[in-house]
Amino acid sequence: MRTKEELKQLICEAVDRRREEIEKIGDQIMENPELGFKEYKTAKLVSDTLKAFNIPHVTGLAITGVKGVISGQNPGPTVALMGELDSLLVSDHPHADSQTGAAHACGHNAQIAGLMGAMMGLVDTGAIDDLCGNIVIFAVPAEEYVEVEYRLGLMREGKLRFLGGKPELIQKGHFDDINLAAMIHTHGSPELRKAAVMQSCNGCIVKLIRYKGLAAHAGSSPHKGINALNAAHIALAAINAQREMFKDEDAIRVHPIITKGGDLVNVVPADVRLETFVRGKTNEAIMDANIKVDRALRAGALAIGAGVEINTLPGYMPLQDNRDLQNLFMQNARNLFGAGACTEAGHRTGSTDMGDISHIMPAVHPSMSGASGISHGNDFMISDKGMAYTAPAKALALMAVDLLYGNAEKAKEIQAQHKPIMSKAEYLSYQMRIFQKEIFDGENGTSKKLNV
Ligand SMILES: [Zn+2]
Ligand SMILES: [Zn+2]
Repeated sequence: MRTKEELKQLICEAVDRRREEIEKIGDQIMENPELGFKEYKTAKLVSDTLKAFNIPHVTGLAITGVKGVISGQNPGPTVALMGELDSLLVSDHPHADSQTGAAHACGHNAQIAGLMGAMMGLVDTGAIDDLCGNIVIFAVPAEEYVEVEYRLGLMREGKLRFLGGKPELIQKGHFDDINLAAMIHTHGSPELRKAAVMQSCNGCIVKLIRYKGLAAHAGSSPHKGINALNAAHIALAAINAQREMFKDEDAIRVHPIITKGGDLVNVVPADVRLETFVRGKTNEAIMDANIKVDRALRAGALAIGAGVEINTLPGYMPLQDNRDLQNLFMQNARNLFGAGACTEAGHRTGSTDMGDISHIMPAVHPSMSGASGISHGNDFMISDKGMAYTAPAKALALMAVDLLYGNAEKAKEIQAQHKPIMSKAEYLSYQMRIFQKEIFDGENGTSKKLNV
């Protein structure tokens, strides 16, 4: 039997030998971006790659997820290595899909390349023979919480119960056989150096808002109408007026967009739609901000005498990485890049559904460099393929080795010491309770709340 250090060395060499294949996967996904729950081409690429390495797998989980397993001879814990399939919509990105505007402006193509590279390194070295337990290779859909109306349509058709990939996979039971989970995000932030772990990340809830006015001739008889756009405008101003009352330490982010501003320019707008996130560091802070946002939304309707329908939807939980898993990641990252290239970052104000996983099991979501430009912007590029594609492949595979080597002592120790923030049942009922529809009538100030 090889020592743990020998095995790790062999895996790094194997990943290096597969460098061209791994880069090809990352580049191919970059050129074929697909939005969440529509990642059919990307899922097929994952499935074909797993097939080529004889990894048994299932497809179509939460519409597009692909889950393979490298099963060990000896029973033990199951570690999931994960990558996200979906892109964003940034239509002026140089690698955007000309039809859909989809673009990989968050580096998820690198996550899948890294995940496939980790699988290759583990398979090429027969690593599982020296390990105990199983390694799940999990390509997951729809991390970016976007196209809210489209996804609500999928819910109505019975195809989804949650609007994000990992929550949907959890409720469908696809994490039930997994004990620990790890994934690595790509960053383009110099302050995060080559590798970083984060203290925490914001959670969020998501809102879909519809103002209902009354159409009328915008020139000859606007007084006969009710201007839904003006109602929305007042609501947005009222939300902005809340900002000085948010506490800095709650890291609240509220960032609405108008997805429909009216129908025709010569008609008083009667149907105006908004989407927003309400993000914060803790669930309590998010709920407090949400009450204030709802008040602001009603205020717009009240001022104009319009109606407003407020759909509140579960988003993502705040991320709370397991510290032991962070330490394992950091040890490997220091060995790969040197201690000076690694950093422990504080709280981050973005959100991820890895937060949901971190609520129910030991999980880790570090980030590694290799990108440049503004995250979610039109200049976000993979600028260092070694860092973005092959380095995470090594880090993920080495994490699996650390956890499962020998009798999987490390994984068992972490499991024994880890106190989950919520059970799966508690998590699901928490998220389900957030679904709420409020119909507020601005003309008489009455409100009806429905649990949907
Ligand atoms: Zn993103
Ligand atoms: Zn991302």
